[in-house]
Amino acid sequence: MPGKGQVELVSVHKNYGNRPAVMDVNLRIPSGAYVCLLGPSGCGKSTTLRMLAGHESVSEGDILMDNRNVTDFSPTQRGTAMMFQSYALFPHMNCLDNVAFGLRIAGMKKSERQDRARELLALVNMQDFAESFPEQLSGGQQQRVALARALITEPDVVLLDEPLSALDPFLRIKMRKELKAIQQKLGLTFVHVTHSQEEAFALADIAVVMEGGKIRQIAPPRTLFERPATPFVAQFIGGHNLLQGRLGQSQAGRIRLELDDNTGGWITDNQVSSDIQPGDALSFSVRCDHLALALPGDALEHEFSLPATIRDIEFQGAFLYVECTTASGESLMAYLPERDCGQWPLQCGDAVVLGWKAEHINLFQQHLA
Ligand code: ADP
Repeated sequence: MPGKGQVELVSVHKNYGNRPAVMDVNLRIPSGAYVCLLGPSGCGKSTTLRMLAGHESVSEGDILMDNRNVTDFSPTQRGTAMMFQSYALFPHMNCLDNVAFGLRIAGMKKSERQDRARELLALVNMQDFAESFPEQLSGGQQQRVALARALITEPDVVLLDEPLSALDPFLRIKMRKELKAIQQKLGLTFVHVTHSQEEAFALADIAVVMEGGKIRQIAPPRTLFERPATPFVAQFIGGHNLLQGRLGQSQAGRIRLELDDNTGGWITDNQVSSDIQPGDALSFSVRCDHLALALPGDALEHEFSLPATIRDIEFQGAFLYVECTTASGESLMAYLPERDCGQWPLQCGDAVVLGWKAEHINLFQQHLA
């Protein structure tokens, strides 16, 4: 018997008037997964979440939960609970009554619901604040109470809309660890909306990147980072350089990739999808931490290299972020381990050579806009 909390969106569309907000969303979420909907503001994340919660109608398509079609179910019929960005605690109720609220609505006896609310407060480490009112709590504490309140109805799926965005950076990191720990302890499905790739990377089993109302990639964070599916995804998650090139001749399982700066190198056949033809212009990404930097004339053991000039150097603790410009004006960023840079005092204006290995090229079919 599969676990509860499986969710599926099948060809889901949402229009506001004539304007589409979410288009052709297909997503299958296994039971107990931590899923992050990730993307820039306005890309349709919250609308998708609200449709899952039943707070927003679906224009076309279906939402299935544990194989039930819940598209037309009310929020309370779905087995979901929602946690909002603003904690939305009732200011006139203490924490215990805030947490117990869902059970009061469901008609449970006071003593029973308060016992259960105390258990939930203990789960989120807020047992000592049962009698406190929301205004007496910090943002992080209010958030824990809001989570307890969402969990008290024993949902199979917890929906979280930017739950960490109102917290300061230190607390945000602490709370995201707590969210993940509680999700794992209870084995629930979490669907969490965020515009922060760092948050999605830290939390998600599956990250779903959206752009302009559409899903662009569904993948575990590591895959997303190693193989972004489109230039947009590479750009949005950060840490990648985007370059342009053109496919040239092929030879013994290898294909020539010509760069715009009259250089190039060989990549292997299996890096190129079959519908890309010789002569096609295309783009590709290379991770910033996969770029090597050498002085002109020094040996660089990489298949691809480009002359460039250092434009900016940023100290980032373990890494130096070195921004360079190529002869054709492209801006490339290299993340160099700080410990490797001690011997070489990099300076803005230095002429350098940037190099990368063929295996670190991630080709896109799309040309850059
Ligand atoms: P995100 O959560 O990714 O920031 P939203 O899902 O909130 O994006 O919004 C997606 C698009 O739908 C945006 O263009 C937004 O302006 C529009 N939109 C969202 N809610 C409404 C609404 N209630 N009425 C009209 N348009 C809306």
